[in-house]
Amino acid sequence: MARLVMKFGGTSVADIDRIRNVARHVKREVDAGHDVAVVVSAMSGKTNELVAWCRDAAPLHDAREYDAVVASGENITAGLLALTLEGIGINARSWQGWQLPIVTSNAHGSARILDINGGELIKRFKERKEVAVIAGFQGVHKETGRITTLGRGGSDTSAVAIAAAIQADRCDIYTDVDGIYTTDPRIVPRARRMPKIAYEEMLELASLGAKVMQVRSVELGMVHNVRIFVRSSFEKPEDIDPHGTPPGSLICGEEEIVEQQVVTGIAFSKDEAQISIRRVPDKPGVAAAIFGPLAEANINVDMIVQNVSEDGSTTDLTFTVPETDFERARTTIEKAKAQIGYSRLDAASDVTKVSVIGIGMRSHAGVAAQAFKALAEKGINIRAITTSEIKFSLLIDEAYTELAVRTLHSLYELDK
Ligand code: ASP
Ligand code: MG
Repeated sequence: MARLVMKFGGTSVADIDRIRNVARHVKREVDAGHDVAVVVSAMSGKTNELVAWCRDAAPLHDAREYDAVVASGENITAGLLALTLEGIGINARSWQGWQLPIVTSNAHGSARILDINGGELIKRFKERKEVAVIAGFQGVHKETGRITTLGRGGSDTSAVAIAAAIQADRCDIYTDVDGIYTTDPRIVPRARRMPKIAYEEMLELASLGAKVMQVRSVELGMVHNVRIFVRSSFEKPEDIDPHGTPPGSLICGEEEIVEQQVVTGIAFSKDEAQISIRRVPDKPGVAAAIFGPLAEANINVDMIVQNVSEDGSTTDLTFTVPETDFERARTTIEKAKAQIGYSRLDAASDVTKVSVIGIGMRSHAGVAAQAFKALAEKGINIRAITTSEIKFSLLIDEAYTELAVRTLHSLYELDK
């Protein structure tokens, strides 16, 4: 017997039929003898609708009321699923964030979970074999008693936090894909599902735009050592053996991964723009003059490359920003031209960042060098490079995205 958290996203609870399907997944686990806490998202599209209503009602809305409105989507699915479970003979009770409670910080719209009372749920597992159906995405601020939300995609974080609070053996994330892939299968049809992936690798993939899980949920899983299993909700519930290993990807600690590959995944983001500032004076304070105003404008700078100047007087500096901030970044730099004192600004938004990820890189030299060679053979020019312990990223022309990703995917033997 195990204790499980089962989390279902918006597409998995999109209508009553799908909620019935979810109920059958839950029934399978309950029948197998497991204690189950279910975490649900709002029906797909619901949260967007609620957000739009808030904007329409008051463009500069009060964040406390925004949370009161947008948290309601999850209340509906939690109640409906509890009803459906009761209908098929499973003891179940719904819980809103304030009822448990899930105590959060005061940061409305992006609150952090501070504490969850799992004791009551555990008691009910023991005394009445009752399934807890918990509204994801929401909590309550202790001092004010106001409803809070955790930021878009936050029910993943609710699920992992609840798994930690009730010491669950596993947190199953049921979604519309059946796991985490070595890269986007739409670009590389031979992309494979990874049976296991380390927290750190998943964090890199998640923050690089593999939009399967909210980044914060993976961080939380890593801190509390929650084993997170990403799997599909669209398989027939009755076809799954509750004691077997269903298709999916386990996000876990590295010590659990026996056969470690050097490179485990390749991510890419087309939402990048590059700005190069030419002939910047090579003296103390210039980087501050450039990045200070960008920080003030709340623009996230990602890659930064600066040359060592040849003559000791001027140098070139290149950096990237999200494409959505491209124009703002450009005008911010142009406004600061007098303080920076550069000669020319070159900019491009048709660039892509390709990132190669794997914890095995820590102990293997020359992994990036292989990529440089393989891309050169395909005539792909690299505009900028950054590296970290378990990842390196290359900025290339957007037109070469597919070719570059495919080339690297087979280079590191991920096709096999
Ligand atoms: N319903 C919320 C959203 O759409 C939370 C979630 O689904 O994770 O962002
Ligand atoms: Mg989601």
